[in-house]
Formats: sequence, structure tokens, C-alpha cells
Amino acid sequence: MGMTDLYTPVLLDHNANPDYKYTIENPTCSHDGVNPTCGDELTIQVRLADDGTIAEAAFTGHGCAVSQASADMMADAVIGMTPEEARKACQLFKRMVRGEEKDQDALEELGDAACLKDVSHMPSRVKCAELAWHTLDEMFGDEAASGKATTTE
Ligand code: ZN
Repeated sequence: MGMTDLYTPVLLDHNANPDYKYTIENPTCSHDGVNPTCGDELTIQVRLADDGTIAEAAFTGHGCAVSQASADMMADAVIGMTPEEARKACQLFKRMVRGEEKDQDALEELGDAACLKDVSHMPSRVKCAELAWHTLDEMFGDEAASGKATTTE
């Protein structure tokens, strides 16, 4: 596995033409994540629908191609999920890039993000790839802890 194999057309396209890089007007929650090792900085925003599922997910910020593409893939993957399901997907992704989960069927739920599994061979890129997912997981973890995620308006 060479270093360049990570930069697949799918990854490069998510980086160059992200579908979910914008600011949500009325987000339900928002959370910042930083990867000081590489200098990646992301703000993840989510708007929940009345039924509690993720209606909208988006990100802003800057960083390397891997961190940006991964954030775009994540937003695409978690729309329609409940926060709980999204956290499970985040944890699955983190296991994948750490080389702990290799089951292709299990990884399918991550959508395009499954193509980042080879990051597990590049320890220096793992934190870039998981930044968005870690940030979303942390955001919903904080929300659950404060009870905000269960509040309806
Ligand atoms: Zn990075």
C-alpha cells in the first residue's frame, strides 16, 4: 500500500467539491474540533428534524485534503440517522482507521468514507481522517450528558 493510494478519485472529489461545506442557518448543535498535529480545524453543525433524526449536517473550517474529504463523507453518511446511530457510525469509523474493524459489510454503512480504511496504514493521517467523526461523537456525547439532545421545542 503506497502513500498515494489513499488519494483516490473519491477522496479528491469530496475535497475539491464538497457537498456539505457550508454554515447551517439554524443548527441544533455545533461543535469545534482541532487536530494540532496537522493544523486541521473543523466546526461541525447538525440540525435535527422533529423526529429526532439528523436532517442536515455540515462543516466549515480548513485543513488537509484527508480531513476535509472525511468531513464531507461523514455529513453524507449521518444524514437520516439518529444521534445515537451517528455516534455508532463515528465509533465504527474510528475502529476502521485504527485497523480494528475490517469487515467490508459492516463498513458499508459508512458510505464513501469506507474508502478511508487504508488510512490505518498511515498513522500520521489517522487523526486527520477521524477529526470530523471524533468531533461529531463528542458533540452528541456532550448533548446527551447535558440532556439537551432530548429536549424538544
Ligand atoms: Zn490533516
